[in-house]
Amino acid sequence: MERTFIAIKPDGVQRKLIGEIIRRFEAKGFTLVGLKMMSVPRELAEKHYEVHQEKAFFPGLVKFITSGPLVAMVWEGDGVVSSARKIIGATNPLTAEPGTIRGDFGVSVGRNLIHGSDAIETAAKEISLWFTPEELVSWDSAMAPWLYE
Ligand code: UDP
Repeated sequence: MERTFIAIKPDGVQRKLIGEIIRRFEAKGFTLVGLKMMSVPRELAEKHYEVHQEKAFFPGLVKFITSGPLVAMVWEGDGVVSSARKIIGATNPLTAEPGTIRGDFGVSVGRNLIHGSDAIETAAKEISLWFTPEELVSWDSAMAPWLYE
């Protein structure tokens, strides 16, 4: 079953949106298989965003991600990688569609509340960067027959 890495960034934690964000993924029908709240070490933040290391916003981004607690999660379900990106919305909350997390709760790109892996391969890399195999819990949701034909 497909898995994706989702992180509620420090602004989402500070704004007390953890429950609201988890609710949206649960209500959609995805299954939570990994969850931890943590302070992010600088090296982890830099590694996670290494594709952006030459960008002007990189130092500010690393500072932001390491500025307070973050909630790291792994969600599971058919098509969860691309579906999660739709639930999250466009990178800039001001242009993200209403109904998406960023569209409903954000106003600026540097405080866009949540991260979601952008492809299946990226998801696998990010999950192994943020979680050990022992931290992930495989379980069968009793709702599965009511979600999948
Ligand atoms: N970001 C930023 N300023 C920018 C562009 C991006 O602070 O001008 C941050 C923002 O937090 C974004 C992250 O860098 O979520 C990664 O950017 P990416 O383009 O990969 O967007 P995402 O996949 O998160 O939508």
